[in-house]
This record gives sequence, C-alpha cells and structure tokens, in this order.
Amino acid sequence: MASTFEMIPLCSGSSGNSILVRAKGMNLLFDLGLSCKRIVEALEKVGTDPSSVDAVFLSHSHSDHISGADVFIRKYNTDVYATKETLRSFLTVCKKEHAPCLDHEISEEIVFETDEGDVKVLSCCTPHDTAGSVCFKVCADDRSLMIMTDLGHVTDDIKSMAKGVDGILIESNYDYEMLITGPYDYVLKRRVGGPYGHLSNEDCAEMIRELIESGTRRFMLGHLSENNNIPDLAVRTVVDYLSGFGFAIERDYELDVAKRYEPSAPLVVCP
Ligand SMILES: [Zn+2]
Ligand SMILES: [Zn+2]
Repeated sequence: MASTFEMIPLCSGSSGNSILVRAKGMNLLFDLGLSCKRIVEALEKVGTDPSSVDAVFLSHSHSDHISGADVFIRKYNTDVYATKETLRSFLTVCKKEHAPCLDHEISEEIVFETDEGDVKVLSCCTPHDTAGSVCFKVCADDRSLMIMTDLGHVTDDIKSMAKGVDGILIESNYDYEMLITGPYDYVLKRRVGGPYGHLSNEDCAEMIRELIESGTRRFMLGHLSENNNIPDLAVRTVVDYLSGFGFAIERDYELDVAKRYEPSAPLVVCP
C-alpha cells in the first residue's frame, strides 16, 4: 500500500524558506530559513515532532535558507545534506560546532532505504548568485515532488529533471513592473531580475505551461518577494498566461500559493 507522500511549506518567501516532505514514513526538511524556534513551532503545528526529522537538505547558503539550521542541527542532532560549497559556507556561519559526522556532501542522488521502500533525493545545479546552489526532487515509488526556487532562469537540466513530476513548489518571485518601479536600487534590481537571480511571475507561468504539457497537475507558487510581488497578482499572471494556451485552473491544473510565515495546506501526491 502506498504511504503518504506530500510536501508542506512551513514558510516561503524572501523572508525565509523551509519545506517539509513526508515520504514513506520519513520526514525530510528542505532549507531552514527562519529561526530554529519558529521552524519548531511550524513543525509542531503540522503535527511533526522536530526530533523525528530524519534529514535537513540545504539548497544554498543564502540566509533565507539556512538561518535556523545551525541551532536546529545541534539541538536535534539531525544529519545535514548540501553541496560541498554550501556546506563550507554554512559551517563558517555556524555559531557553535556540531558533530562532523552529521555533515553529508551530496552527490546528484541520495537514496534512503526505509521499510516501505526507497526514498530518493535528486539535486540539480541552479543558476543563482551563490556557489553550489541546487534545487531538489524527491522520488518515492513512481511518484515525485520538486522544489524549484532561487534560480535566475530554468536550465535544460532542470527542465529534464522536472518533466512529469506529480507536484512542484515553483518560484514566482517578482512581478516585472513592480520590480522595475519598486524600491530596490539599480544594482539589486539587476541582481534579482538577472539570469542568476530569481524567476518572475511571467517566467514561472511559462515553466508551468511546459510542466502541464508534461503531465504535472499540482502547483504551488513560492518564494514570493515581499517588496516586488503580491500573491493575488502572481496567481492572476499565471492563470491568465495559461488560459492563453487553453489551460483552465481546476480542470487542467491545481494552483496554490505557499504562505509566507506559516504552514500552508499540504501538496499531496499520495494521501
Ligand atoms: Zn531564497
Ligand atoms: Zn538565494
């Protein structure tokens, strides 16, 4: 019998990111970008004991992805998985040491063996303005979930990894007009909007179109900018763009927005 396979964003946005994935009885935490205390509160809200988190994966070393990881890993003795570059940057910002045996450098594929079968975590390099940045896909049986944030554009490798995933949390960071006319200085506008920055609502809409054509139905918009986006605007941009290709929400796809500071409703692949 297939067991629960789902993802629950605990927080999402430029202010902090953390996503819980439950698969075959495992609890995997992707990024820990709020304080340990707030992540623990969020985990408890969704009925998960923080000490039952089996592994923490860090996508890259920006603070909105790692700020709570140091304390969490020491407190709960949790294994942490990241690329060599991310691990190195993370260790330089840790306030105290944790057991070195908890640190795991990731290769392209990590396999966890459980009583119910394997859970695989695949990673793929993302074009983002820090070394060793990756996105993740989690596979259990023949189902898969993906977390795709913090990337300036979608590379062919990422597209091929994402093809046919059952559900995805995808970055919809900024509205182009809001970014251009907004409060950021010129350098920051160029960074966010550049090929190593973040995906705009429009970029996200185009990626969703390709994914719908590959069979994906469940989408959650995430990592929205607080200054350069509004959840309703992000949704409207995606829905309007897709309707131009004949795709209708509810009929052809499900769409949600991950909440900024609190847990969102789960994106469920297997109940
Ligand atoms: Zn980020
Ligand atoms: Zn980042």
